Amino acid sequence: MSSNFVPVKNCKLCRSKNLKKVLGLPKLPIGDKYLPKDQAQMTKEVFELDIMMCQDCYHYQNNGFVNPDLIYDFYLSRPAATNPKLAEAFKEYANYLVKNFSNNKKDLFAVEAGSNNGIFINYMQKNLNIRVLGVEPSNLAKQAVKNQINTLNTYFNLEVAKKIKEENGQADFFIANHTFSNIVDNNDFVQGVKLLLKDDGVFSMQTHYHKAVIEKNLIENFTHEHLSGFHVKPLKSFFERNGMELFDVKVVPAKSGSIRCFVQKKGGPNKILKSVQNVIADEDSFGMSKIDRHESVKKFIEQRKKQLHDYIDPIIKKGKKIAGYGTSIGATTFSFNYNLGSSIDFLIDDDEFRQGLLSPFFHIPVVSPKAIEEKNPDSILILAPLYADNIIDQNKNYISKGGKFIKIWPEFEIIKN
Ligand SMILES: [Zn+2]
Repeated sequence: MSSNFVPVKNCKLCRSKNLKKVLGLPKLPIGDKYLPKDQAQMTKEVFELDIMMCQDCYHYQNNGFVNPDLIYDFYLSRPAATNPKLAEAFKEYANYLVKNFSNNKKDLFAVEAGSNNGIFINYMQKNLNIRVLGVEPSNLAKQAVKNQINTLNTYFNLEVAKKIKEENGQADFFIANHTFSNIVDNNDFVQGVKLLLKDDGVFSMQTHYHKAVIEKNLIENFTHEHLSGFHVKPLKSFFERNGMELFDVKVVPAKSGSIRCFVQKKGGPNKILKSVQNVIADEDSFGMSKIDRHESVKKFIEQRKKQLHDYIDPIIKKGKKIAGYGTSIGATTFSFNYNLGSSIDFLIDDDEFRQGLLSPFFHIPVVSPKAIEEKNPDSILILAPLYADNIIDQNKNYISKGGKFIKIWPEFEIIKN
């Protein structure tokens, strides 16, 4: 086995050894490593990716993790600022935090782990007059610093928390948006949060919701970056074991289904709201603790794979081309789970940083949407399903000239004139 893959033997939340495989998936390369030709060879390595359930606390997690440095060095994550919808949602979120939890204090201090290019804390700093510090392991940290957003280029953990506390004092807010599922040691991370938070401080954590993943078949979340798929029941007891309290949960629409958890130190000033019990009751009735809860996802993948190949294989046989639209990490998950690697001629992406690079493992070239007309593919498979309507809208010209789009989610659908 590769030394770059470390199997998980204990539950990431409760440390139980009682882990059971609930969904077997194909091995994957690191999903977001789009690289120039001379470096692309390194994406030929594939790593296991099975989903396990802890039979003691019911937390869902990958069966192992890839060396994080391999993932986050040369990381191409899109700066969040390029997504206007996300920017708008973040504004509301930041305002909500300050309005509800600042307790009329002055000189507020907020720390964000996984701060991306600093979009969230920059809003807090500029518009809400809050002292901020970002912690970001990828090269996006440099962009943040350039934009005068105080940022440490590292992973957040207990050690780093000690250092931040020493140099900056304790925080009123600790924020982790779509970061907590990427953490290798969640216990160490949350001990760091606890150390760094003031007694009346709030830890606000948003992450994709594993119940939504199952319910809506959001299989793009099965990657080596998302080591955990969270739901509230295991999280509540996890925070309790760490001397913290989950006092409110909101299910929010981000990424087609996310949860926002509000957490304080045990005995903090906020009342524990009914939302926590309500969401857990909803999870129980959905069957989140059942060992066979992923059977519907398994069937979905099989069915979609068949529909796709029934459609594209005859086209390819005739010598015509199929393109893919979108190169996010999910595109790699789709390529492997639907066995599309050798079916796609080229990939299209609006992001110019990705154009000219090669996809992980299959080394499919990425081109600009401008190349569609010249290359004239028979059909374009949408590999960024949450953005399908936008993509189709921007390429009406291609459809009017006889081109077809293939939607793979939520239904299998051919969009044509
Ligand atoms: Zn567990």
